[in-house]
Amino acid sequence: MRQFGHVIDGETRHAADGRWLDVFDPAIGQAFAQVASGTAADVGDAVTAAATAFPAWSALPNSERARWLEKLADALEARLDDFAHAESRDGGKPIRLARDVEIPRAISNLRFFAHAATQFASESHHGQAGLNYTLRLPLGVVGTISPWNLPLYLFTWKIAPALAAGNTVVAKPSEVTPHTATMLAELAAEIGFPQGVLNIVHGAGPEVGEAIVLHPAIKAVSFTGSTAVGKRIAGLAAPMLKKVSLELGGKNPTLVFADSDWREHLDTIVRSAFQNSGQICLCGSRILVERRIYNAFRDAFVERVVALRVGDPIDDDTQVGPLVSQAHFDKVVAAIAHAQAEGGHVLCGGTTLQRPGWFVMPTVIDGLGADCATNREEIFGPVTTLQPFDSDDDALRLANAVDYGLAASIWTRDLNRAHHVAARIDAGIVWINAWLMRDLRTPFGGMGQSGLGREGGMEAMRFFTEARNVGMALT
Ligand code: NAD
Repeated sequence: MRQFGHVIDGETRHAADGRWLDVFDPAIGQAFAQVASGTAADVGDAVTAAATAFPAWSALPNSERARWLEKLADALEARLDDFAHAESRDGGKPIRLARDVEIPRAISNLRFFAHAATQFASESHHGQAGLNYTLRLPLGVVGTISPWNLPLYLFTWKIAPALAAGNTVVAKPSEVTPHTATMLAELAAEIGFPQGVLNIVHGAGPEVGEAIVLHPAIKAVSFTGSTAVGKRIAGLAAPMLKKVSLELGGKNPTLVFADSDWREHLDTIVRSAFQNSGQICLCGSRILVERRIYNAFRDAFVERVVALRVGDPIDDDTQVGPLVSQAHFDKVVAAIAHAQAEGGHVLCGGTTLQRPGWFVMPTVIDGLGADCATNREEIFGPVTTLQPFDSDDDALRLANAVDYGLAASIWTRDLNRAHHVAARIDAGIVWINAWLMRDLRTPFGGMGQSGLGREGGMEAMRFFTEARNVGMALT
């Protein structure tokens, strides 16, 4: 069976105590590999390697660090197909999604932050009190912790700005989907990336993740994952006054107004709920529909959802694959049962596919109010609800009736309404007549229970640097 080891100081290694965890293929529900089950000792080794590499890496001209990131992007692009297959098998992701969207986005992340390294500039102030300029210095060794839903996409979204800004990294991918991050670290070693600059420690969150958060030489932690774990990390990091960036869960509303071209946008609205089996933090899981089009929208939407092709992720035609793990499958199945117990009507789906693997049919539920658990708690699966609204205020009341605040999409032809609603919706990311339209320069992140801080563009470069202001008297 294939084994994914840590990559520390440019070398692939077993866990210090020799333990392994199984890695499953969600399409068949069986283990196909093992991943090193790391400990604090492995994190310690990775930190030592990263700290040793830091002086030389941070002293490189920005353009040299950019060149390394470009080189890694080129090497990844040359092996796009291998990476896409690995991602598809590891996470049950439709191969088309991995090949056409997610691995290309990982390549873009590396290239984007290579450019950012050469463009990152800092402020100067004068005219009030002498001459001030602000240095933006790399922090040193930083930690990244990423989830299973977009494994390489989110892994590179963190390591690329960290490296571009001159830091060295100890990265922990999800133990559920460790394959492509391991491949990337091995690729980095193959192309001669300076040793110790990018280190990967695998393992369970409470062991390896917490060891990263608690290690005194790790200066900042960038985390993407669940709200519960984000809070745990915030609690551990606070007494150390450690810098954290937390990208957490969501319960995103999709607002469909009667004046929108909703029939034309139906495919995108369906995709916004079910892409990657709903396992994207930005998926719309509460679709709010203006009452006078409610029945027409509901019927057309359900018809489109029923037509989604659910099946083997390795098949080019598959649109919806399995859920990532047995535990997550059980959670989503329980959430559907709970929605029914709360009085929800299952309009389609609600069942599992009768084959091996963790498949849940795309599920649409209506008849539930804003206060129930189904409409308040993140399910993170192929499950969305429909709720009618009567006015802009009513739509906003429903949209903002959750503790999360990550993303929202607004569908209308009325520009005035669009901007008015966008300004009043509690979310860090709002799309108008679009979903998951990304410009990597924009701030990315959520409010409330969806997180703390922003990633993306110069926000990420600032997170991974310390500002030091230097003031000089002008006499
Ligand atoms: P998770 O919180 O269970 O795990 C995320 C990562 O944290 C994994 O690498 C895990 O091993 C690690 N971890 C677990 N316990 C830890 C601990 N005690 N200390 C430190 N690290 C620990 O999340 P998941 O199930 O992998 O991912 C799904 C969640 O991620 C969803 O809630 C989703 O909304 C969220 N998410 C958010 C964004 C965003 O940008 N806001 C993007 C993708 C996913």
